[in-house]
Amino acid sequence: MNTSIYLHIPFCKHRCAYCDFNTYAGQEDSIPAYVDAIIKEIEFVGRQITNLPNYQPIIHTIFFGGGTPSLLTAPQFDSILRALRSAFALTADAEISIEANPGTLSYEKLSALRETGINRISLGVQSANTEELRMLERIHDFFTVIQSVADARKAGFDNLNLDLIYGLPEQTLASWKTTLSHTVDLHPEHISAYALTLEHGTPFGRWSVKGLLPIPDPDLAAEMYEYAEEFLEANRYVHYEISNWAKKNKDEGGIMKDEKIHPSSFIPYPFFACRHNLQYWRSLPYLAFGAGAHGYTNGYRYSNALRVKTYIDRLTNSQSTNLPFPLSPATVNHHKQTLQDDISDYMINNLRLTQVGIFGSDFRSRFGIGLLDVYKKEIEELIRLGLLESKTPEVFETSEVYRLTKRGRLLGNQAFLRFVE
Ligand code: SF4
Repeated sequence: MNTSIYLHIPFCKHRCAYCDFNTYAGQEDSIPAYVDAIIKEIEFVGRQITNLPNYQPIIHTIFFGGGTPSLLTAPQFDSILRALRSAFALTADAEISIEANPGTLSYEKLSALRETGINRISLGVQSANTEELRMLERIHDFFTVIQSVADARKAGFDNLNLDLIYGLPEQTLASWKTTLSHTVDLHPEHISAYALTLEHGTPFGRWSVKGLLPIPDPDLAAEMYEYAEEFLEANRYVHYEISNWAKKNKDEGGIMKDEKIHPSSFIPYPFFACRHNLQYWRSLPYLAFGAGAHGYTNGYRYSNALRVKTYIDRLTNSQSTNLPFPLSPATVNHHKQTLQDDISDYMINNLRLTQVGIFGSDFRSRFGIGLLDVYKKEIEELIRLGLLESKTPEVFETSEVYRLTKRGRLLGNQAFLRFVE
């Protein structure tokens, strides 16, 4: 079974005021012990697989997310990747991504990272506007981004994602247009654009409640999103997920063929779609390692201890050996999925895919029941509301396909709610 691996690296040089990820500034001294703990967790879970003779996950994507994974050295990545290769079977062309902050890279570092087998970099660019980057408390400016992209190309990376944020306090449409235009000028294979959310518990959340930070105008944010859709499409990026765009391939003629996802079908994702994130959006299994990491494998959804010290302690001190695969001594929550959980998650995740959405034959082959037997009422209602459309791409000739309309992409939560259990 094609499986993915997520590894969480919860360290940052500085904690940005809008961030609510599980990440910590000023704990870089713990990185060596943390890397040792991740390796212990990988070895532990790898040993459990040997007790399951009929279950052999084939790893086709690995993703180091954070936090700022690029704070790790190349030898630290190398030792983690060695542990993964010895614990699991990896495909020869596995996508191996890291998230990186432009202020933490150099050509020498990028070359060393490429040598370890890492073949995709996701750069946290966020904006091309210096004032906006300062407001977000990012440690880089756009010149650093330009330099990092040039260094990454020189080091041999031919698969780059640039991450952007829009809907910032006081951001104008003109400034967003400039960010998009400068981003496209760097010719990344992939672009992500997420709206800023003001999360409770973050400085941004508190300042906005006290009236110290202007709340972003949702109508303007919607206009920015619609502009991104138009502009990126005009620049030959395929909008394949609500917040993600990718090039079809280098000569822009291809589509990704993935027989493992859907036998004998050409799946119309662009070639440079993030294969790792497709695993989440297609509700397919992934293992998780590291503090606060969440996984979904062997019928379990599970998550690890959040804090760095707790995570390290649990892996260093625990003697437990008889946990079911894929749980480890770091696991603090786990839940065995019911069929209804899986169906509901499948609908919510797959609806994010704006080209393919939900296709009936895949639903039937996953769950042994027809899509309309379960969700006829909900689907008809969403079509009536103009949030969903029935559209069968040529490649699926025989299967019904439902996907969000343009309006549905803006109001995705209203559609997802119909499928929450
Ligand atoms: S660099 Fe990213 S993960 Fe780290 S604090 Fe800033 S937004 Fe959060």
